[in-house]
Amino acid sequence: MTTHQRDFSALVDPVKLDRLAEIAIKVGLQLQPGQDLVLTSSIAALPLTRKIVEHAYRAGAGLVTPIFTDDEITLARFRHGQDAGFDRAAGWLYEGMAKAYSEGAARLAVRGEDPSLLSGQDPARVARANKAVSIASKPAMEKITGFDINWTIVAYPELAWARQVFPNESDDVAVAKLADAIFAASRADGDDPIGAWKAHNAALRERTQWLNGHGFHALRFTGPGTDLTVGLADGHEWMGGASVARNGVTCNPNIPTEEVFTTPHARRVSGHVRSTKPLSYQGTLIDDISVRFEEGRIVEASASKGRDVLEKVLDTDEGARRLGEVALVPNSSPISRSGILFYNTLFDENASCHIALGQCYAKCFVDGANLTEEEITARGGNKSFIHIDWMIGSGEVDVDGIRKDGSTVPVMRKGEWA
Ligand code: ZN
Ligand code: ZN
Repeated sequence: MTTHQRDFSALVDPVKLDRLAEIAIKVGLQLQPGQDLVLTSSIAALPLTRKIVEHAYRAGAGLVTPIFTDDEITLARFRHGQDAGFDRAAGWLYEGMAKAYSEGAARLAVRGEDPSLLSGQDPARVARANKAVSIASKPAMEKITGFDINWTIVAYPELAWARQVFPNESDDVAVAKLADAIFAASRADGDDPIGAWKAHNAALRERTQWLNGHGFHALRFTGPGTDLTVGLADGHEWMGGASVARNGVTCNPNIPTEEVFTTPHARRVSGHVRSTKPLSYQGTLIDDISVRFEEGRIVEASASKGRDVLEKVLDTDEGARRLGEVALVPNSSPISRSGILFYNTLFDENASCHIALGQCYAKCFVDGANLTEEEITARGGNKSFIHIDWMIGSGEVDVDGIRKDGSTVPVMRKGEWA
């Protein structure tokens, strides 16, 4: 399917698009005067990306460097590329990105790709290509997961994505609807988007302060198909909304964001859990995930769709079977209330409580910026090439906080803050 015969950008409200670009620079990044910016985007998201670059320079950016991808070009590799090439990645590019971050550049990603782009391709090849990228991009990714720099992600309504979210609508209606949904979720639809983000960040801060005050030893999730106890890392800290990167800049790493999240203890997770929404992972849909944990490790896993890919993901490395994040999102979040399944983690993870397999965020520890890798591991932080969020919350899931003495405190009831 070709997605570029027509220009769909006319269906996207230019005022709201401009607001989203402003949010990306002023809230998402808080780009500093003179700061460089490394920006990745698909060609199809160009209308938003151009606006973002404009706002970046108006905010005093040093040098903005865009790096573009294209779904058709990605597919051409899988259709016609030689097999040996799937273990390779553009290491030189990621080395350059890591260097730019070391020298102070901020990072922005514009997302909007087809969630099922690679679902028709050989899962073994998809896994090999993803693993090669994970390995090659590790030095650059560590600057992101370690929160060394201010970074953010925003979304643009590309046609193939819109078609999947609204399969029963015409292309025009699907793109317009997805655009509206993105603007609403990103708080770009009101007259004072910067003020709206200030209020939202304050509300999220209240939640993290309550959770940090309790300092729970574990959380227990119960619901249909789920009875999961997630130990929390020693000295973990809950975060959410705006936070201060190690370079001193306060930024909102995801636009939108509704979650408060922390680091689970990689060796203290037990029980079983079922996913409540499909997961779109690098172009493949994985649905009805059901796993069982023993001493932090997934010992059984199944999925009704994408099982091959899930199994390959779990075999990426030792840390891929353990948790690196646990996040709480009320079922009444605006994204959840929209009832839209976005097939995109940036949105779907903000509709539901979720857990992530793989790498933990070093910043989710008290004084996290000053901990060594060994100290993070000793406190229960997980290490992996992957970080994959999947949704386990719904209006039927309860969450309890468990104190060290075994006593419990209701945290969520039927998906809402208790
Ligand atoms: Zn999350
Ligand atoms: Zn995550």
